[in-house]
Amino acid sequence: MERECHPKGDCSYDILFDEGPCSEGRDSWDLYFMKIATQVASRGTCHRKHVGCVIVRDRTILATGYNGSIRGLPHCDEVGHMMENGHCTRTVHSEANAVAQAARHGISLSGGELYVTASPCWTCFKLLINSGIRRIIYGEFYRDDRIFQAAEALGVEIGYLDEKGKLQILVAGK
Ligand SMILES: [Zn+2]
Ligand SMILES: [Zn+2]
Repeated sequence: MERECHPKGDCSYDILFDEGPCSEGRDSWDLYFMKIATQVASRGTCHRKHVGCVIVRDRTILATGYNGSIRGLPHCDEVGHMMENGHCTRTVHSEANAVAQAARHGISLSGGELYVTASPCWTCFKLLINSGIRRIIYGEFYRDDRIFQAAEALGVEIGYLDEKGKLQILVAGK
C-alpha cells in the first residue's frame, strides 16, 4: 500500500554506503564556492548582467551578494535601467552588497576570500581590499585591469576559475 504521508517530489538522493574511493567527481572548494556564487547570481535584478558572489573564511560562507537596487526601491526588472555613460547605475554591485550584508550583521571580512562570477570593478575592488579581503577568485573577466596591478602591489591573490574548476593564479598572494 502506498504511504499517504510520503511527499511526491521528483528528487531522489543517491546515498552511497560503499567503501570505495569517492573523491572522484567531488568538487574542489574553489569550484564549490563558485557554483554557489553562480546560484546567488540568479537572484540579480539587472538583466544587463547577473553577478553573484560569496565571501568565505576558513571554508565558511560569511556573506553573499548579487547585483540589485537599493533596498526598498524598485528593481531594473520592474522600472527599467538607470543608464549613465553606457552603464546601468541603479544597482549596487554584488560585492558591495556582500560587504553591506556583513556590515548589517556585524561580521568581519578580514582575511576573507571572495568568489565572484565576474571580476570586480575598480570601485568594488577598493571596497573589498579595505574590508580585508586577501584572495579574489573570479569566473569571467569583467572590465578593469587596474585590479591586477593593485593586487600585485598589495600581495592579494587573484585567480581565474574556469567552468571545469581549473584554477589559474594570475597574481600570487603574499
Ligand atoms: Zn539595470
Ligand atoms: Zn563592482
